[in-house]
This record gives sequence, structure tokens and C-alpha cells, in this order.
Amino acid sequence: SFHKSKGQHILKNPLLVDTIVQKSGIKSTDVILEIGPGTGNLTKKLLEVGKMVIAVELDPRMVLELQRRFQGTPFSNRLKIFVTGQFEDAMYAWSSVKERRIQKESRCRLIEVNGVHDFVVCVIQGDVLKCDLPYFDICVANIPYQISSPLTFKLLSHRPAFRCAVIMFQREFAMRLVAQPGDNLYCRLSVNTQLLARVSHLLKVGKNNFRPPPKVDSSVVRIEPRKPLPPVSFKEWDGLIRLCFNRKNKTLGSIFRQKSVLSLLEKNYKTLQALQLSQKGLSENTEMETYVSVLGDTIEDPSMEIDNGGDDEEMEVEDGDAAGERSDFKEKVLGVLKQGDFEEKRSSKLTQVDFLYLLSLFNKAGIHFS
Ligand code: SAM
Repeated sequence: SFHKSKGQHILKNPLLVDTIVQKSGIKSTDVILEIGPGTGNLTKKLLEVGKMVIAVELDPRMVLELQRRFQGTPFSNRLKIFVTGQFEDAMYAWSSVKERRIQKESRCRLIEVNGVHDFVVCVIQGDVLKCDLPYFDICVANIPYQISSPLTFKLLSHRPAFRCAVIMFQREFAMRLVAQPGDNLYCRLSVNTQLLARVSHLLKVGKNNFRPPPKVDSSVVRIEPRKPLPPVSFKEWDGLIRLCFNRKNKTLGSIFRQKSVLSLLEKNYKTLQALQLSQKGLSENTEMETYVSVLGDTIEDPSMEIDNGGDDEEMEVEDGDAAGERSDFKEKVLGVLKQGDFEEKRSSKLTQVDFLYLLSLFNKAGIHFS
């Protein structure tokens, strides 16, 4: 029996599994990360082409199933299991397996099934979002769709960066990932992902390739982390993108006239000025670190996929000219927009290069988004 809550939809079409593996471009030297191996249909093919598969699975029943499947094959006596979370669950799943040694790792415990060290498949039991991922060259996975967004950003913040990920997503999520300016589904997810990686649509997959069939169609997407990353603070970038895509069909002129936006930016501006006064001469060399470390923030953010299309009514009242200071700041912000000819532009049509340029103009004027 399959658990719907765990997104368990097993790939039942072997031709499709072959196609996914072919399109992944796996080398015989590759360490492959598989998320949610389930009963192992994909795992088996991955083992045939790569050097090693590290599989992360939440459900102990699936872990047991996987172990059964590889029993009596050349892989079985080289099987390892990492345990995260409920240690007892895994012991239960593995009660039939004689383990020789139990080794403690940071947040995973590792049961070594036997002493062989050049293992080919290892299974990490636990939630992929909660465990520390090991080194891998390539990730190939048919994932539970409910973890799509946090998983994507967890992978993109993993270091060292992997070569590529080939992942099955819900069709709409996949189309958002690859959407270009002007496309209906172009949103914050598209812009943020494409800043960090090159993404391309590989394959459309109908519901009936799965057992049980999910409610929605799927697509396989390739994600290749950019190396090097654009030299921009991700926190700053995401702060700007968040504002711009809150109402992606409004003009930037109208977005940056909102009282809430102006007061947020002015607060940042003043905080930064105060900081600069008190910490004159502090090195600004932390840009790239910020860039990587704040990816965690994105993971937690549920608004990632929310996109209200921008047709909602204006909730903020425009600021009058009551406070002289506020008005000055407003002019400063609008001046930046004018300088780059952005006032009449809409986020739904802007490219990554446009946003990078806009951010640099704001930053040059001392206006920051984080
Ligand atoms: N790879 C198999 C296949 O293609 O036939 C099964 C794919 S099924 C869509 C997703 C699998 O991910 C299930 O086996 C489920 O138990 C597992 N899973 C669900 N949530 C998980 C999580 N947070 N971490 C790791 N595995 C998870």
C-alpha cells in the first residue's frame, strides 16, 4: 500500500525510466544522489550506469523493500543505510540484516551492513530536507511533489556544487522553473532559480506512467548550477525580487510608490547609514558568503510559489508629501527607476539582466533590500 501523504507514486513504465537515465548523462565515475528511491525502479538503472548511488528515503517500509530487491544481487552485500530521525524504525526495517558495526555521524547514524568500503549503493533513511547531504556529482530523482521548492533550494545551496540534477516535478512547478519573461508562469521561483542555475525542460510525463497515478501531469527538468555564481548578494537579490513579484503585472513605478515598500526601504537605508557610521572601514568582503548562507531563508518561505497575478486591488494608499523627509526618500527611489528607465516596466517582462542592473542602481544609490 502506498502513502499519499509521502507522495508515493511509483514509476511503472520501464521505458520511461530508461529515458530519464539516458537523458541524465551519467558517467561511470559518478556518485549519484537519489531522493525517494521507493521500491527501487530507478535505483536499479542508476546502479547499472554510475559508480555509486546514495539514496535518501523517508519510509522504512520502502527501505526494507529496497533491501529485499537487491538481496542476491552483486549490490546486496555492499549495502549501507544511514539513519536519520527514528533510529528504532530503521532497526525494525533492518532486523533481518546482520550489522557488524554502528558508526555515529553528525546527524545521521550509519549502520554498516558489512565491512566492505567500496560500496555501490547506500541508503539514508530519513527526511531529505532534514539531513546533511553527502558529496554527489549528479542527482536523479522522482520526488514527492510537496517538497519541490525547499528541495530545489536545498540542492542549489549544497556545496560543493553538483554537476546537474534531473528531477521529476509536477508539470506546473516545472513550467514555473523554466518560465521566461513574458510567460504566464514567470514568477519569483523562475527568477531565483535561474539566477543560481540553468534550467531546461527535458520530458513531459503523463499521469499514467505512475502507480497509483497522481492527480497532475509531470515533467522532468534538468538543473545545472551556475559556476561561478553571479557576484550578487542573494539576500539583496531576493529582497528586490520579492517586492517586484508581489504584484508582477503592476509597473515598478506603482510598486515603489507604495507606502509599505517605501517605509521598508527607508528603514533599511537608515539602519545601514547608522551602521556605516559606527563601523567605518568594516570590510565588505562577505558578499559571496551571504549569497550562499541565506538560501536557507528561501527554503522556509511559503510565499515562494504564491503569485497573485497582480490584478488585486491596490491595498496601500500612496504616501502624500506630508513628511518632507519621506518625500525626499521617495524622490530618491523614483530617481533610480527613472535613471534605468524602469518606471513603466513590469516584472513579468523583465529579464535576469534587467533585475541585476536595477539592483546595482539601487545599491549604488545606497538603497538596500535586506
Ligand atoms: N523513485 C521511486 C519511483 O520512481 O518509482 C518512488 C518515487 S515516489 C514519487 C517518492 C518517494 O519519496 C517515496 O518512496 C516516498 O516514501 C519518498 N519520500 C517522501 N518524502 C520524503 C522525504 N521528505 N525525504 C525522503 N524521501 C521521501
